[in-house]
Amino acid sequence: MQDIRLRTFVFIALILLLSLIVSKLFSFDTAIIFFVITLIFYLISHIFWINELSKWLDKPKATQIPDGKGIWQDIFSKIYKNYRFDTKSKKDLTTAMEQFVQAADALLDGVVSLNESNEIIWCNKRAQLMFGIHARKDLNKPIQHIFRNSEFKKYLDDENYESPLQVDTENYINHIEVKVIPFGRYQKLLTARDISSMLKNELVRKEFVSNFTHELKTPLTVISGFIETLDQPKNNLSEDTKKIFTLMSDQANRMKDLINDLLLLSNIEASLNKNRSEKISVKRLFENIKITSTKLNKKKHKIKFDIDKELNIYGSKSEIQSAFTNLISNAISYTPEKGNILITWHLINNLPIMEVTDSGVGIPKNKINRITERFYRVDDDRSRSTGGTGLGLSIVKNIMLQHQGQLEISSELNNGSTFKLVFPKDRIIKST
Ligand code: ADP
Repeated sequence: MQDIRLRTFVFIALILLLSLIVSKLFSFDTAIIFFVITLIFYLISHIFWINELSKWLDKPKATQIPDGKGIWQDIFSKIYKNYRFDTKSKKDLTTAMEQFVQAADALLDGVVSLNESNEIIWCNKRAQLMFGIHARKDLNKPIQHIFRNSEFKKYLDDENYESPLQVDTENYINHIEVKVIPFGRYQKLLTARDISSMLKNELVRKEFVSNFTHELKTPLTVISGFIETLDQPKNNLSEDTKKIFTLMSDQANRMKDLINDLLLLSNIEASLNKNRSEKISVKRLFENIKITSTKLNKKKHKIKFDIDKELNIYGSKSEIQSAFTNLISNAISYTPEKGNILITWHLINNLPIMEVTDSGVGIPKNKINRITERFYRVDDDRSRSTGGTGLGLSIVKNIMLQHQGQLEISSELNNGSTFKLVFPKDRIIKST
């Protein structure tokens, strides 16, 4: 800019100087005419190049850019350089975008980019199949209007994206797991994974366990029956043989417990017991539990109950009783003699919560989140000696899942444990 102004100033100074010479050689009037005509030519040349620039801008092509003269030569050369740079950047960007879209389309997962109002900004091919999105028509429409599913809508509305959501679809892929990852200021990346084969395998596994345990039940009952028949005083068995029969009978009972627990677990998982809205009188439930826990309490623990008898819930009576008893029997098993066990049932923050706190052996921190896995035991020998099957807590966890509640565990090694069953508030029976 500075350069153009300087060059214009030099040019005008030059024609002024020339006009001065003309006025000396000829007359003042001739000098004025000379000055004006030179300026007009100067102006016309600028108008010409401005017009050339305007024509070129209508259809910009690098090969057809005017050459220009004087100042205009510089200007056109700068425009040319910028134009080439822009074209190259645009080309690079387009290539990068194309590569990104191709890579995203090759993904096996569905990916959708959403704005603050959950409107679709972009999605890959897999997402189109999973959610039934039309590539062009559905852009800028809220995804919950395209993929209509109440659970999915709730998941988006709740904005709690910590854990993924499994949903069934009527589209090309039937079972998907959806996860939302917020990014940028208000945008979200929604990813969807096809879990159809995983669910199928899971089902096959569960059916196998269920059928297998069911098939084991009959031969085991026959074997136990024979052991009992043979182990009779009238058979005059020797002490050694008696010991063998006792051992056989104990092991047969252990197997029975295992089979019963496995069957219970697969029944809960398969949701066979669908009636989870029975009215449960907690007062009566705890009366039964007190009797059972007194029977189980062989180690002279101090067991205390602190129960809100007015707080009743909807659920499956047998399953809730099984969950409560499991926790109490664990507390009894894993607390050394004369320990303390406190069982409470109260409304805490509007949620019905059952808590079992013991002064027992506790669980190492790094093992707490594993103890609800099937057959996981902190200490194999100790657990076997308590007669446990290793399935109790997975049963409790599954029962809570089927009741839309959760099992929370806090514990410290050698310092006791607290197991909490938290039920959702819509399971509370409102007293009339
Ligand atoms: P088990 O039949 O072996 O008791 P569970 O599934 O009920 O199986 O429990 C899994 C493991 O969790 C147990 O083997 C034990 O190591 C640990 N556990 C459960 N409850 C307690 C408790 N109250 N205190 C300490 N450890 C516990």
